[in-house]
Order: sequence, then structure tokens, then C-alpha cells
Amino acid sequence: MLRISHLTKTYGTKRAVDDLSLHIAPGEIYGFIGHNGAGKTTTLKACCGILPFDQGEILVDGISVAENPLECKRRIAYIPDNPDLYEFLTGYQYLNFVADVYGITKELRRQRIDHYAEAFSLTGDLSQPINTYSHGMKQKLAILSALIHQPRLLMMDEPFVGLDPSASHQLKLLMRQLCQEGSAIFFSTHVLEVAEKLCDKVAIIRGGKLVASGSMEDVKGDASLEEVFLELAEKAGA
Ligand code: ATP
Repeated sequence: MLRISHLTKTYGTKRAVDDLSLHIAPGEIYGFIGHNGAGKTTTLKACCGILPFDQGEILVDGISVAENPLECKRRIAYIPDNPDLYEFLTGYQYLNFVADVYGITKELRRQRIDHYAEAFSLTGDLSQPINTYSHGMKQKLAILSALIHQPRLLMMDEPFVGLDPSASHQLKLLMRQLCQEGSAIFFSTHVLEVAEKLCDKVAIIRGGKLVASGSMEDVKGDASLEEVFLELAEKAGA
């Protein structure tokens, strides 16, 4: 579903992502972990086609992000760490706007909005303007807008930040459900306990380079993910 080959991205002289290769298959939940400034957001944005890159290739469902960004964008949803929403719209208006962009039928969007809004306890707030929402409510709305078109590939940057415990729980259930239906999920997190429990596979990035990747069992062995992460950081003198 996502194949990153030798991705390199520089900002001026800063090499933010350095020769990174990764493959995510349908049905997989793939966690992406690394220190602040390691290159996670840069990688995710490059995969979404919103950040040009210097070298390498990114394929979404076999389609090149650089050569055919529109076809890729039809298949993906991206939730940034701090989603910018159209604050003057109500929640319903925003969701309808996103559903229009993705060509979702009226009936299907109604079913999905009802279902996901209920799951995230947001139903009563959708008629209100987004500028009255708390940070967590905006985060939930951004998640709803991603789920509304059932993306083949869902990418999220720190999706659990700001969510209350029941919303976090719902998000984990919905992530699992989406993958059972054949989609794939690639997300960054600093919450290693969540990554350890939720992810089928994990990649650890340090200074723009991938230092470990593979199935959770292969990467962490008998240790905890936190122990493995800290050990890798120590080796680098981080
Ligand atoms: P965090 O966990 O703190 O969100 P991250 O792993 O997502 O970090 P990135 O945001 O990808 O890290 O940043 C990787 C590197 O690229 C950092 O050194 C950062 O300073 C640099 N960087 C990111 N965006 C820019 C930019 N627009 N201009 C210059 N340098 C940038």
C-alpha cells in the first residue's frame, strides 16, 4: 500500500530524511517512532505529496506520489499533528465539504457521519462552528473527516495527542477495523506503550535514518519497545 524507496529530503543544508526505505502492506498498522526532530513529520508529509523531496520514490498503491499526486491523494487521508480546519464552518459543513471533495454519496456520508460522530461523542457538537471547539474536539473532527472516505492508506502524525481516554480507545478500535477491511495505517507517536500494543510493525528513525524496522516482535524481541528505543538512542549518544 505504501512503498518508500531511498527517500531523501533536505531543508537547505539540513538532511531531515536520509535514504529511508519502508514498505507497508494492506492490513498493517505501522508505527513510526523517533526523537523530536528525527524526521517523522517530514517523511509523512512527503508520502502525502504535500512536501517535495530530493531523491527516492514513494508509491501509494503502486502509484508514484511525485508523478501522479492526485491519484495518490484519492487513496489517502492525512491527519497532521495540528490540523488546520476551516474554523468558520460548522462541524457538519466541514464534513460535507470533505465528503464532496471525495465524491461520497449523500446516503453513505450520512451513515458514516452518524456512526463516527457517535463513536467519538461529537454528535451534539457538529452543528456548532469549529472555532468554538476545544483542541481535542478539533482532533476528533479531523479524524472523522479522514474516516469519512475510508482511505486505503491512513497517515497520522501523533493522532492520540489531546484525545480523552474514551476517544483514544475508539480511535484504536477504528484503526483496527479499517485495517481489517484491507486499508493500511502509518502513524507517528511518542507514546511507546500505544505503539507496542497497537502496531503490527514499527520503524524507528534517528537523525533522518531508519535504525530499526519490521514486525514488533522482530524489533523488540523480549524487551519492551521503550527499552529498545532508549538503547538505540544511547548508542547514538542522543
Ligand atoms: P517531532 O517529534 O518533534 O514532531 P519530527 O520527527 O516530526 O519531530 P521533523 O518535523 O520531520 O521531525 O523535522 C526533521 C528535521 O527537519 C528537524 O531537524 C527540523 O528542524 C527540520 N525541519 C523540519 N521542517 C523544516 C523546515 N520547514 N525548514 C527547515 N528545517 C526543517
